[in-house]
Amino acid sequence: MQMTSDHANLLYEGKAKRVFNSNHSDRVLVEFKNDATAFNARKHMQLRKKGFVNCQISACLFEVLEGEQVPNHYLGLIADTCMMAQRVQIIPLEVVVRNIAAGSLCRETPISFGQELPAPLIDLYYKDDEMGDPLLTEARLELLGLLDREQRLEISRLALKVNSVLSTFLDKLQLTLVDFKLEFGCNESGQLLVADEISPDTCRVWDQRNTDLDGRILDKDRFRKDLGGVVEAYEEILKRIQGVCSKPRIYR
Ligand code: 5GP
Repeated sequence: MQMTSDHANLLYEGKAKRVFNSNHSDRVLVEFKNDATAFNARKHMQLRKKGFVNCQISACLFEVLEGEQVPNHYLGLIADTCMMAQRVQIIPLEVVVRNIAAGSLCRETPISFGQELPAPLIDLYYKDDEMGDPLLTEARLELLGLLDREQRLEISRLALKVNSVLSTFLDKLQLTLVDFKLEFGCNESGQLLVADEISPDTCRVWDQRNTDLDGRILDKDRFRKDLGGVVEAYEEILKRIQGVCSKPRIYR
């Protein structure tokens, strides 16, 4: 399938994905691009095969979540780099769950890097590139009126469930889920779904088989920190997942 020239149906183009209208009003096509960006797109590069690897990992992880009754937008693959998904109205929040201190948590608090947190920490950010995705307080979240009380509780419940399902799944592959970012949306019927992608672009994943502090990094931090071997690291995650999962289903 040739998606890239389908400008008429392009709904939205983000840094790592394009979303297209499908033939059905309640479904969209999500194409994963090879673009890698960091630091609010100030750093930008093309990485061959990244779109393919992230699409495959995302599809497998959405299927794992589906098996554990976590509602999500994924319907199936329609090409190597493209999935069919339920159309959702994205809630402009980045929902980050952290198990181990890294990244902004260490830059913004005295908590030391690598410290295991006593319980998973949920941080909510307002999704706005121009504002630099600012961290929200509960009071600011309420003031913004983005969610009703029930949705607020449901987002936390689902985020923790995703964390527990994926941490357990990855741990069996000798991979540690350090932290990750989720996005949520509501479908036509108003159901809250995990949307967007779940890939090494949006998660921190450390290799338990490698004790070297840089060597163990299998996620986008390799790109952020110029460690090289970005797609090779993502492929290592995919290889381990494929060792225990069947190929993602084809959407028909
Ligand atoms: P941090 O707050 O440390 O920058 O990020 C925490 C986790 O959420 C990391 O796994 C990071 O990759 C993910 N994350 C946070 N914000 C974004 C974002 O805007 N884009 C992507 N791709 N991942 C994000």
